[in-house]
Amino acid sequence: MPGENLTRLEAAERAALIDVDSYDVSLDLTSDERTFRYVTKVRFSANRAGASTFIDAITDKVHRVVLNGVDLDPSKVADNVRIQLDGLQTENELVVEADGLYMNTGEGLHRFVDPVDNEVYLYTQFEVPDSRRMFAVFEQPDLKATFKFEVTAPAHWKVVSNQPTPAPTEHGNGKATWSFGATPRISSYITALVAGPYHEYRSELTSSDGRVIPLGVFCRGSLAEFMDQADADYVFEKTREGFEFFETAFGVAYPFDKYDQLFVPEFNAGAMENAGCVTFTETYVFRSKPADAVRERRVITILHELAHMWFGDLVTMRWWNDLWLNESFAEYASHLAVANATEWKGAWVTFSALEKSWAYRQDQLPSTHPIVAEINDLEDVQVNFDGITYAKGASVLQQLVAFVGEDAFLKGVGNYFKKHSFKNTELTDLLVELEATSGRDLGNWSKLWLETAGVNTLRPEFEVDGEGKFSKFAVLQTAAESHPTIRPHRMGIGLYDLVEGKLTRVEHIRVDIDGSRTELAELMGKKRPALILLNDEDQTYAKIRLDEQSLATALKHLSDISDPLTRAIILGAAWDATRDAEVNPRDFVRLVLGNIAHETESTTMMTLLRQLVTVGRFYVKQSERETVLAEIADALLQLAKDAQAASDAQLQFVKFFTQFARTDAQLDAAAALLNGSLKLAGLEIDADLKWELLTALVVGGRAGEAEIAKLETEDNTANGQKAAAAARAGLPNAAAKDSMFKLLTETKDYSNALVQSASMGFTRVIDVELLRPFATRYFEMAMKIWESQTFKIAEYLLVNLYPIPLADESLLAISREWIAKAEIKAVPALHRILVENVANLERALKVQAMDRG
Ligand SMILES: [Zn+2]
Repeated sequence: MPGENLTRLEAAERAALIDVDSYDVSLDLTSDERTFRYVTKVRFSANRAGASTFIDAITDKVHRVVLNGVDLDPSKVADNVRIQLDGLQTENELVVEADGLYMNTGEGLHRFVDPVDNEVYLYTQFEVPDSRRMFAVFEQPDLKATFKFEVTAPAHWKVVSNQPTPAPTEHGNGKATWSFGATPRISSYITALVAGPYHEYRSELTSSDGRVIPLGVFCRGSLAEFMDQADADYVFEKTREGFEFFETAFGVAYPFDKYDQLFVPEFNAGAMENAGCVTFTETYVFRSKPADAVRERRVITILHELAHMWFGDLVTMRWWNDLWLNESFAEYASHLAVANATEWKGAWVTFSALEKSWAYRQDQLPSTHPIVAEINDLEDVQVNFDGITYAKGASVLQQLVAFVGEDAFLKGVGNYFKKHSFKNTELTDLLVELEATSGRDLGNWSKLWLETAGVNTLRPEFEVDGEGKFSKFAVLQTAAESHPTIRPHRMGIGLYDLVEGKLTRVEHIRVDIDGSRTELAELMGKKRPALILLNDEDQTYAKIRLDEQSLATALKHLSDISDPLTRAIILGAAWDATRDAEVNPRDFVRLVLGNIAHETESTTMMTLLRQLVTVGRFYVKQSERETVLAEIADALLQLAKDAQAASDAQLQFVKFFTQFARTDAQLDAAAALLNGSLKLAGLEIDADLKWELLTALVVGGRAGEAEIAKLETEDNTANGQKAAAAARAGLPNAAAKDSMFKLLTETKDYSNALVQSASMGFTRVIDVELLRPFATRYFEMAMKIWESQTFKIAEYLLVNLYPIPLADESLLAISREWIAKAEIKAVPALHRILVENVANLERALKVQAMDRG
């Protein structure tokens, strides 16, 4: 990684000097398994003759550099990361011929061989700085240009890029060449190339300006039985619903000529918004039954990427400090579209359960930052695809919409697209449009919400007269000492009473609060209800606390509340209070296990089950931990047995049971589910569930390498390989842990997908002492990992291998010593990852102390 950074200052200087007109990129994908040959021809102007700049090109070997007709010596001007360009003219033509490296990390041009049929599949992933791994390019978002790709590949392949795929020219030797038309002026990070014998489904739609937009859905050939015509049709249907919603909401037609959606192997993220050529993770091709939460997430992701076609692709941030403008907007707009235009009407409940809890978690880490972040270089932005940039930003947009109104918001956004089409912007460009349509001054609002970090806590404070009516009512607002900003909130207050045994909302009052204490005349004289809920309908971004009586009511009647959003807000408040060591963690376990059978929302359920993993493994005091974990496992197995046949709840309970199973009886049950001697009505033990059960048995010491190898032979697929790697990483003996740690940290044998999977499996232990040696070894390897691996691989290893299940003072002491070291602090992005790990441990120890009393 070192040497591949680019600073904001370098980018600004380069953008001040040059304008890029066009790229012609010719690629030959038929040479060998390791490298590909390319020729980039780029035309650009400079505003000073004689000036110098550089172009980015991470290469295996540079063969030729020709600037304005003059051959330069590659050994003098190129270092395999950059090419120095001196003596520029006002109009320039540069030709670079080089070999690029196929990647197995999901960054740049990724190459994957399908174990099922040995077919080769390629795709690109360029955000943030990896188009330079496929061609020579001025790699920064504000140097937009047109891109024309010419690709020579095996003749039986599909080749897909940003522009419509042309008919190939066959060469008669098994090879063919595809010459794509030029793109509009776009940023290099949203260019794309996907190539291989992909299976293809076709459809089309008519855009709001009357054009016919061709649609494609692609997956690997060996996955076509799972992504069949019906599933592709479903993806097309959601796409059409999204197109209609966004084109109407923004008043701007889809800006590109076609829209292909490609499900590609070993993808690091959920998806990527390449212009007209969106790539998705294959975990969205369902070979096994997914939880409903995952099916909904796929739809949200489809519409998130579609929203980016306007926000991000048509109009793009000038520099990565405004990455939030892309991601927060796409996250907000996708939930809006999913709730309004698809069958997933509960999208805002999902948003509350998942996105908001992600945002609050991230915002309370020492590494938190304003939504508009300080981004000094590429490493800064790579660690910033986080809960602030996505989830807090989207939550704050939700609050902005409550403040200015949805109509003014969408109209302002539409005007912004029209004014800045195919150009770059900064935050103020959007605020100007929103101020114009809403008639409000947003300068102060932006300072308080976008330019400062931290989450506020809101609590009610009231007095009641002799008739049970409010004689005083105020909302108190506090902030963390480290981030003392107090903010204005427009929100609802819900009054809930028991009506025929059901906890029902009897009144919803919209209020504006500001300052550390806001007296609310609106509630005076109203009868005190059984439950008072701040942030009713969840429009602001703040942790809320319930008064004692309301909390007691909520806990007693949680499953009687018919509105799923109200339940999600209350559960979120309980979770926040647990994390803040104000509620005993074992009470949270009881709350979840006592109510989860009645939860109707799949994402709320999944969020609660994940929170149980955290509470059980890290938050409960050590002396009770094994007992509580075993109790959770027993409860989940019983919940699974009691659940409706073939229901989503049944599936989720079984999946999470495998995470907890530890006693002999529980491991017997896992084995019986796997071998079929225990059957749950309607539950199919499909390919993924088999692996989850086997992994539980491996972690529990009931199965080993022989069983893993056997199942891997039966399931010799990409998914099977990933699951096998995770299972091997879970083998519960010191020698196996040692060899897996070495494989992950000292070799590059595993692809990104296997690294991710195995590193996650590594810390799954029943006897946490197996992880003791890695408390120190982890930190000893951290700098080496950072220096020798690409960013994504380093991130997987550093986040997942931290032995946090030890969850004790000894790990804390070692961790604190390491993160104080000067050489670690000198690398801010690395330091940030380590500090976040340690902060999670510190919080766990704080909750454990509470549990000890
Ligand atoms: Zn996005």
